[in-house]
Amino acid sequence: MQSPWKHHFCSLNKSQTHYLDSAATAQVPQVVVKAISQYLSNGSGNPGRGAYSQSESATLVIKECRKKIADFIHCNSEQVIFTKGTTESINLVANSFAKTLTPNDSILVTQLEHHANLLPWQRLCQQTGAKLNILPIKMNGELDLRDYQKSLNDNCKLVAFSHYSNVIGLTNDLTQIIKTAREVGVLTLVDGAQAISHVAVNMKKYDCDFYTFSGHKIYASGGSGILYAKKPNHLLPLLLGGGIVKRVESDNYSLLDGFQKLEAGSSNMVALTGLSNAIDFIQSIGIVEIAEYEKALTKELYQAINHLQNYTIISHPKSSSIVSFYHKNIHCHDIASILAQSGISVRAGHHCSQPCLTALGVKHCLRASVGLYNDSDDIEALIKNLVSVEKMF
Ligand code: PLP
Repeated sequence: MQSPWKHHFCSLNKSQTHYLDSAATAQVPQVVVKAISQYLSNGSGNPGRGAYSQSESATLVIKECRKKIADFIHCNSEQVIFTKGTTESINLVANSFAKTLTPNDSILVTQLEHHANLLPWQRLCQQTGAKLNILPIKMNGELDLRDYQKSLNDNCKLVAFSHYSNVIGLTNDLTQIIKTAREVGVLTLVDGAQAISHVAVNMKKYDCDFYTFSGHKIYASGGSGILYAKKPNHLLPLLLGGGIVKRVESDNYSLLDGFQKLEAGSSNMVALTGLSNAIDFIQSIGIVEIAEYEKALTKELYQAINHLQNYTIISHPKSSSIVSFYHKNIHCHDIASILAQSGISVRAGHHCSQPCLTALGVKHCLRASVGLYNDSDDIEALIKNLVSVEKMF
């Protein structure tokens, strides 16, 4: 297979570059690079802070970006909150529960979670005395939902889970998980960091309370994140400062409403310009077309690794962008370093998902993940080098 979109990425048009780590961060297309450069060349302004043209055009960038995100995930602009990334979004929501959660309550997460969707809930429970329940996974990485209802009935206030696991590569059944929680009045937070570039995401269809993702996984530069909140006014700001107030006196303040009270400080204009243009880029191709292409390529990747002796795959056969695996004798960091010498970028380690790997009986593994720019050449190079690595040990 040959990617029809690779030519958009200058960073990949060098010889011997096989970037197979898009699950960590995606490469940025030239249209996004140009848009950022143009924004800066036209002159920087602080949005909402001035009557002059640079400030007004920054205000417009933010307004347009919010609208584009809202259209992309099917919600209202007022439900889109800008953050630094998925990690900050989840911390923002967890922090909002700190005042109301009691030792009689519980929070539910799953064994699949990235540490970004685990540590904030661990700390929240440690601070409030609430219980943290963990839904287990089966040996094939699928969620084991047998005790789901029971955990929801344990005075659960919120269930936080990933849309698409960064190790297993499986899309969870959001509709069912959310519907079951909603029936017993439990709020839902979906970590969409991995799903957003592979799945057509729709807030109206899912009906979750919170959904979050990061710009850098969806072909924007780093520094931007999105938190969708069904009712943003129910959240408390993580940060206090400029841009979020109605009135401030020397000993008190009153906050604006909705998303406006949640975005203190000057916005990251470079990141938001990038995000806005990355959304245009994806929309110009179509997320469904991207997903289909990546799914077929991942199948090829899965089968190729599966044919290798001595390597064991731990991701799901139905994964649509990620293949996680390990060698029976050679440490994954040694393999990743040797692959890097041939221009092959894969991730090695625990992937910030230690409980997930522990559940599968593995300490660390390699992960190859595809983006819309990868093609069969990348897979061939990976396989050739995975075989030759063995001869070095
Ligand atoms: N959740 C998942 C599933 C992820 O894969 C990641 C990053 O890899 C994160 C959360 C954290 O994202 P960020 O570092 O952009 O905040």
